[in-house]
Amino acid sequence: MKTAPSLRAIPSVEKLLRALGPTALPRAAVLAVVRRHVASLRRAEDVPAFDAVLGLIRAALDDLRLSRLQPVINGTGILVHTNLGRAPLGAAVVETLAAVAASYNNLELDLATGERGSRAAYLDHTLALLCGGEAATIVNNCAAALVLILRHFTCGARKEVIISRGELIQIGGGFRIPEILEASGATLREVGTTNRTTLSDYAKAIGRQTAMILRVHRSNFFLGGFVASPGPAEIAALARRKRLPFVEDLGSGATVATEKLLAASAPGAQTGPLVPLEHEPTPAEVLKRGADLVCFSGDKLLGGPQAGIIAGRAKLVAALKREPFFRALRCDKLILAALQTTVDHYLDGAPEDSIPVLALARAPNGELRARAERIIAALAGLPLQAGVGAGRAQVGGGTLPRSVIPSVTVDLLPERLALEDFAARLRRATPPTLGYLGGGRLKLDLRTVFPRQDERVIAVIRQAVAR
Ligand SMILES: *Cc1c(COP(=O)(O)O)cnc(C)c1O
Repeated sequence: MKTAPSLRAIPSVEKLLRALGPTALPRAAVLAVVRRHVASLRRAEDVPAFDAVLGLIRAALDDLRLSRLQPVINGTGILVHTNLGRAPLGAAVVETLAAVAASYNNLELDLATGERGSRAAYLDHTLALLCGGEAATIVNNCAAALVLILRHFTCGARKEVIISRGELIQIGGGFRIPEILEASGATLREVGTTNRTTLSDYAKAIGRQTAMILRVHRSNFFLGGFVASPGPAEIAALARRKRLPFVEDLGSGATVATEKLLAASAPGAQTGPLVPLEHEPTPAEVLKRGADLVCFSGDKLLGGPQAGIIAGRAKLVAALKREPFFRALRCDKLILAALQTTVDHYLDGAPEDSIPVLALARAPNGELRARAERIIAALAGLPLQAGVGAGRAQVGGGTLPRSVIPSVTVDLLPERLALEDFAARLRRATPPTLGYLGGGRLKLDLRTVFPRQDERVIAVIRQAVAR
């Protein structure tokens, strides 16, 4: 027969709280954890010693603290890492953010007239300039932009959206184009095959039900071999003849020549065969080739805050902004402030100097190697082998999947610690530090580590192996 634990053996919540001391978490959150543990002890068959209970609670509080949103050091070599918050923002962007956040602002006030003004009028204007479109607007993310566009064009009697079978893709986080279409009230009209779609496939599918033609940039994978698809200009011409809107979902939204961007870092490459950085189509190119609207993310290769940018024909952009649904997708003032400064950087020229993802992508390998050597020198005498390695950094965020950016890694092998345990300690460090395992080493790719973080990297490694 089971015997219930003696209730007297269960420590009181008050006693546990006192023994825990300060925890750097809100009191109510700590209390909830302690109460949950005490409650589970009441159901347990036997009660562990007080110190063991305290240890369990401390571990639970550690995990809770770790789950708070916080800065991390990205040693993965993936520039736009969706799990790590995609694009970090530059100093001037953060300054604008702080200034706008801490004060009232002219979000919906026209200071010239003193009347109610439109949100983001300046940003709509600069985005249109950047994209070479007649007009532009912003919503919460590119998925929202696509939903807004689909809803707008399929809200009438015509429901069908024509799309190639080669573009029915899934983007990270369970975002599937066919499901988005369905959720937006559109009817999917697939044309062509997975590997080949022709212009006549599009032409044959157009009928009385057709609402629009959608092209989705294959941003996160590539097709090779026996493949064909009509050029966007051909589809655009067909759409114009049939008086149908033609929209391209570009995803990444690079507005710089990506193939030139990395020329700076490439010399000194000593990794195996590399695919040089491909050209990522820009929103301006897409509009020039005849798309009526283009949409893309703010926090992928544009390097700004999370946002979905729509650019193209003024009449269509204005109609989208009149959609009741637009109100539900509109951006917060902080996003608008951050994006405004980001776009200003582009219009000023030289975005490579001020947009962190572009600056990181371009850092010469010589510089990375010098930093790696400094870090390794600072680790001398610790129970750990450290060496310089060759890295293969990536753009990530579902963009330029083939391209590898040659890079430099710090390769670490602790002497008294399993590699997985070492990685776990680095993840639990302050700030949490993330690398990857390869060749029996834990590797930190310096392409995605900011030079200002090098000292912290050294301290974090030191602490992880010293315990
Ligand atoms: C990333 C991506 C999206 C989604 O963008 P979010 O800003 O994350 O919503 C949509 N379409 C394509 C082609 C993408 O690459």
